[in-house]
Amino acid sequence: MMRLSYFSPKTEVRQSKIHGRGLFAIADIAKDEIVAVKGGRTVDRKTLREKITPRLGPVEIQIDDDLFIAPATDEERELSMLYSNHSCDANLGIRGEITFVAMREIRAGEELTHDWATTDNDDYSVECKCGAPNCRKTVTGKDWQRPELQKRYAGYFSAYLARKIAGGLSFRAKRGTSQSG
Ligand SMILES: [Zn+2]
Repeated sequence: MMRLSYFSPKTEVRQSKIHGRGLFAIADIAKDEIVAVKGGRTVDRKTLREKITPRLGPVEIQIDDDLFIAPATDEERELSMLYSNHSCDANLGIRGEITFVAMREIRAGEELTHDWATTDNDDYSVECKCGAPNCRKTVTGKDWQRPELQKRYAGYFSAYLARKIAGGLSFRAKRGTSQSG
């Protein structure tokens, strides 16, 4: 069967020190180069929680408040998984909603990771053991709201989160104007 997701030929899936299998660079990757594109079914949160997560685990990428891309069967899982682990010091960001790009120059051998803060708007809170020097220790589905992460990942948030962040900024700016005037 054909893959549902796309991988750059400069990548390879192998054992990760962060968690299970991971995605690795096998050649140098330039800043903003496409590393992977997530494919699968487009499903709402209810379908994801009731029909997919219980059988397949965490296999999705969030693309809007109530929309996700995910595989629906065991066979699709293998064809859809990107194996990009979460890291609090990620080297991949998001272009649009499903395209993973390099946020900086990446060297051959580096594990390719993304920060869930750049994709997720959810209500979870989980312990993080990513091992990065700047590890947040606890990662939540609302981390995209943290000002330091909005700064760190500017230009690399999923489009639906970038819209929320921009909206919040203009709201604060307007409020600031009315307060001072
Ligand atoms: Zn971490």
